[in-house]
Amino acid sequence: MEKTAQPGRCDSCCRVSPVLYKISMGHDFFDRAYDRLSAVDDQAPRWYCEECSREKDFQKDVRSIREEFLRLRAGEASLLADSLTFQRARRRIQEIDHQVKKGRSPHVILSPRDVALLLMDLEAWEEEHGALE
Ligand SMILES: [Zn+2]
Repeated sequence: MEKTAQPGRCDSCCRVSPVLYKISMGHDFFDRAYDRLSAVDDQAPRWYCEECSREKDFQKDVRSIREEFLRLRAGEASLLADSLTFQRARRRIQEIDHQVKKGRSPHVILSPRDVALLLMDLEAWEEEHGALE
């Protein structure tokens, strides 16, 4: 991750931070190029403080996993149809849920409620369909 050597204002929470990070969207949770998922404003160069850059990273994974889960639930081809991938995704969302709950508030980028809801959906699905292996 690229970072500045000078203090500056975070483009997300607007606080002045000693170091700013430029987010490289790179690859998503499933190792696909992330750009296709990003909103237009994600593609403009932006600088984030450390907390916001971490949240941005979480947001990226939450979006990818939610998108695949919605496909799975709709009966479409989904990467989450693979049970190992599903478990890996559920663990990642669990970890993010844990991090956003203990983190600062208010959250600027990622809504803790969205993460909690996705986690509940994943757990309910897993319970209903059983661990395949
Ligand atoms: Zn910030």
